Parts: sequence; C-alpha cells; structure tokens
Amino acid sequence: MDRAALHSILAQWGQPAYRARQALEAQRAGAGGWAEVSTLPRDLRERLDAVLPFWALTPDARVVSRDGTVKWGLRAADGAVVEAVLIAHAEGRRTVCVSSQAGCALGCRFCATGAMGAGRDLTASEIVDQAVLAATEADAQGARLTNVVFMGMGEPMQNLDAVLDASAMINAPEGLNLSARRIAISTVGWVPGIARLAEHPLPVRLAVSLHAADDATRSELMPINARYPIANLLAACTRYCDQTGRRVFIEYLLLDGVNDSSADAKRLARLLRDGRFHVNVIEYNATEGPYRGSSQSRREVFLRSLADAGLEASVRRSRGADVAAACGQLARTR
Ligand code: SAH
Ligand code: SF4
Repeated sequence: MDRAALHSILAQWGQPAYRARQALEAQRAGAGGWAEVSTLPRDLRERLDAVLPFWALTPDARVVSRDGTVKWGLRAADGAVVEAVLIAHAEGRRTVCVSSQAGCALGCRFCATGAMGAGRDLTASEIVDQAVLAATEADAQGARLTNVVFMGMGEPMQNLDAVLDASAMINAPEGLNLSARRIAISTVGWVPGIARLAEHPLPVRLAVSLHAADDATRSELMPINARYPIANLLAACTRYCDQTGRRVFIEYLLLDGVNDSSADAKRLARLLRDGRFHVNVIEYNATEGPYRGSSQSRREVFLRSLADAGLEASVRRSRGADVAAACGQLARTR
C-alpha cells in the first residue's frame, strides 16, 4: 500500500490519522482489499477503493515448492511484474527474499534476472508490500517472519533510497518491527552504494556477491567487475567494516570448473585474510546460462581449503528450485 498517498488522501478528506493505522493493521492481518478492512466505515472503504490500490504490488500468482518455499508473482499498477519468495527454516523461522527492481541491468551471466535486462526501480511501498505479504503468510503457517533479504530481482544499491526507506518501514515498531540486523542487502559489488550504506544510521547487514577470487574470472561472470574490480571492491568492504564495526558477508557461488578449485579457495582466503568477513558458499541454481554447479565432493574440498586457511565459511543450500524460486532463478514469468 502506498503509505504516503494514504496519509495525504486521509488528511485531504479530514479523516483522523488513526484511520491509516487501521488500514495498515488490517493489511498485516491478512485483508485482501479495501472491502475487508472492517475497522473502517463502509463509505470510507468505498472512497478509498476508488482512488488507492490496496496493494502497491498485487499478488497474482502463488506457487509452493516441495520444500515449503512459497513464491509470488506480483503486479504493479503500471504492469511491472516482480517475484518475492518466502523460505522456511527450522523452529518456525521464515526469511523473505524481496525484489528491489523489476529486472536488472547488470547482466551477470549466471542469473535469470540479469538475462531479462533492465527494469524499473520499485518504490519503497512496493518493497514493503512484499514483506507484509510474507509476514502474513508466515503467520498463517504458524511461524513468524524473522529475516528480510534483498536477494530477489534487481540490484538494491541502484535503488538504495527506496531500499533504505523500505528497510526503515520494515524496522519500525508500527511497521513489521523487525530488527535492522535481520535485514540484509546483497549487492553485486556497487562500490558507491557500499560507501553510502556505511554512512547510514540503520545497521542493516551487507552481503557482497564476489563469486571469484581473480579479476579475469570475475569479469567473465560479472560485467560490473570492469568498473569495480576486486581490489576496489574489497577496499570498500574493509572501509565499511572499519566505519561500522560490522562484518561483511561474502557470497561465493560455486561453479563447476570455473571458480571451485583448491587454488581458488586459497586465493579467496588470501584476499579476505585481513578483513572481517564471513563467506557464504552458495549452490548454483539452474538457469539458461552455460554453467553447472560444483559437485558435492568439490564443494567439500573447497570448504576444507577455506577452513585450513582460517576463513569462516558456511554453505547456503538451494531452496525452492523445483518452482524456480531459488536465488538467481527469479524472472518475469509471464
Ligand atoms: N543483485 C544483487 C542481489 C540479487 S541476486 C546481487 O547480485 O547480489 C542474490 C544472490 O543470488 C546474489 O548473490 C547472486 O549472485 C546470486 N545468484 C544469482 N544467480 C544465481 C544462480 N543461478 N544460482 C545461485 N545464486 C545465484
Ligand atoms: Fe542483477 Fe544480482 Fe542478477 Fe547480477 S546477480 S544480474 S546484479 S540480480
């Protein structure tokens, strides 16, 4: 729901401010449209229905994976379509993976969103709606939304104002009341965005998609590397750690025969040895690109090499791949 528009419409109509709160509470409780906001007088619901879409992004498709992952297709008023994914963990915890743009201009070769090309920036309200929808679904599953990650479609650092506004709304007590430390922004390595995030008061987490330990390999996988090569990127990460006192999560997608040798692991460990980094090794999810994921044995050798070099690392398992809901598989589906 476009919160700024809601407040200004209600003010213009001489309505008390608590009406906005009632509308947002009803949306959070699972109302699907204005007609279901039973706390508002009927005539007010009808007037609102005529001027303001209940959802800034209307859910119009929902698929559930064998592992319980839920993926929504969401449509904006101008026809832009994005996806959001709710991932189930143990102990009733749920993570929502939200989109920040309806496409992506950066063209990483292993990513289905990249293959779509550029799409428009989402507004803060469009981002928050994805989290609200996911929180309501988590409640319906008898669980609770505990994490928001900007790992859906788009590059959050290219839409950082809206991403930070949305994060503030998700963090606010009258929003989803989620700790900023449970919100993570994942970036392709957009250096100016990392510098801006370091200055921002909201202590959200930073994850950086590195995916290679040398510039030749990284440039082949990620065209952005020509603009911000590894040395510049890691220098920005180190400044971020120094400025904020927080560590940086390094994402490393293991691709068969591309970046998964023991020599790659040693190079990676050397690159990261001076900083406060944690490595998330990611399983590749199939897209139309030319790559294959590494075998389990390769992954184990890679992880052992990192551990031997004293680097903290964990594996992020693929979820929702059977319904194309896994990292890197999100794209406009219609
Ligand atoms: N644009 C941001 C965030 C969205 S992508 C970024 O690139 O970081 C979220 C994560 O999914 C990134 O780490 C990205 O590199 C990874 N990813 C992309 N394609 C993937 C694939 N096919 N399999 C697994 N992870 C993938
Ligand atoms: Fe864009 Fe991230 Fe996909 Fe690269 S991995 S194309 S930056 S969404």
